[in-house]
Amino acid sequence: MTSDSSIYDELGVPRVVNAAGTKTRIGGSLIRPEAVEAMSRAAEGFARISDLQARASELITDCTGAEAGYVASGAAAAMTLGTAACIAGDDVAAMDRLPDTEGRPDEVIMPRTHRTGYDHAIRAAGATIVDVGTNDPHLGTGSAAIEPWEIETAITEDTAAIAYLQKAYTTPPLSKVVEIAHRHDIPVLVDAAAEVPPKANLTRFIDAGVDLVVFSGGKAIRGPQSTGILAGRADLIESAAFQHLDMHAAAEVWDPPRDLLDPSAYDGVPRQGIGRTLKVGKEELVGLIRALELFLEEDQDELVAEWTDRTALLDAELTDVDTLSCETVGGGKVDVAPALHVTVDEDVAGMTAAELVLALRRENPRVFVGADALDDAKFVLNPMCLTDDEAKYVAERIRENLS
Ligand SMILES: *Cc1c(COP(=O)(O)O)cnc(C)c1O
Repeated sequence: MTSDSSIYDELGVPRVVNAAGTKTRIGGSLIRPEAVEAMSRAAEGFARISDLQARASELITDCTGAEAGYVASGAAAAMTLGTAACIAGDDVAAMDRLPDTEGRPDEVIMPRTHRTGYDHAIRAAGATIVDVGTNDPHLGTGSAAIEPWEIETAITEDTAAIAYLQKAYTTPPLSKVVEIAHRHDIPVLVDAAAEVPPKANLTRFIDAGVDLVVFSGGKAIRGPQSTGILAGRADLIESAAFQHLDMHAAAEVWDPPRDLLDPSAYDGVPRQGIGRTLKVGKEELVGLIRALELFLEEDQDELVAEWTDRTALLDAELTDVDTLSCETVGGGKVDVAPALHVTVDEDVAGMTAAELVLALRRENPRVFVGADALDDAKFVLNPMCLTDDEAKYVAERIRENLS
């Protein structure tokens, strides 16, 4: 753990031992070694980005069942692109104006309980979010956070899309939202950034009839951190491609792959679009393709068994610390790894859970544990991004800080 062989040590940047799971701010997941190798081979030569996007689209189509697919610099970036596609459609002049949406429908309806910090990605395309529903469930009256009619009555001629955040707790059912949206000819955009595994979720949303869905390439798929997948309707993916590809080209020699976009429908070459800031390079595209192929082949039961064993190891390493009580939560599932919830007896320990978590983060290497339940005097140990040796190290540092 204290060897100085890593690139981070070489740069004088503290390493992180990650017991917090796949968090973007500490580097997300570990990219698959085979994807790194593919990226390094991609770096040895040139390829046209649009050809690589067409190749990625083929793979995304195969594994999601969507008409087409595209790769942007993260799931959030894919949401911006998807929103831009819903607003501009095939109108080149509208693409050119974004994020100024004048003359185009630009409202995106969202159930209020689906809003997160990530909805900035939707607004970045120029959209205005119209949120509907309430926080009533917290009053304990039994009433729902959102009624389907609230979505339906919010639809106007300014509606560009309905956005839906897929989580175990989100309502109303997606099928209901799709039914309402399609009755009014409005596309549905689903944020499923972290919803794989299970692998079956790759096809689930397209099967449910959604028009666009995004997945993060840098979470469990373990591709490059700066990749995200957009999958869905061919016309919307074509619009996304138009707004993302580098378009600094002379019309006479502009010859994009026809299975990605068809230039004959347009009077000229669109300018650089709003997606140009969300670019992905040849290395990221190749890395994502390789990582996605491997994700599809992966034995998920084996992964769950590994996580379960490592959580048990963490539990065993901390079991005799009398200021801590440990509980394993959520085992046996491929969608959410089991995690060890550790409650600190703050009075006896003489420190709060928050103080402990902060002290661990200030070490070198930094030790990151999950900090989502500090108010309950709890921290969370996630096995996904640890080796067994690192798990033992984390336990040792926790004991040391408490003693
Ligand atoms: C992680 C996440 C995102 C962002 O994904 P990136 O690939 O990091 O851009 C968006 N929405 C949700 C719900 C997420 O969990």
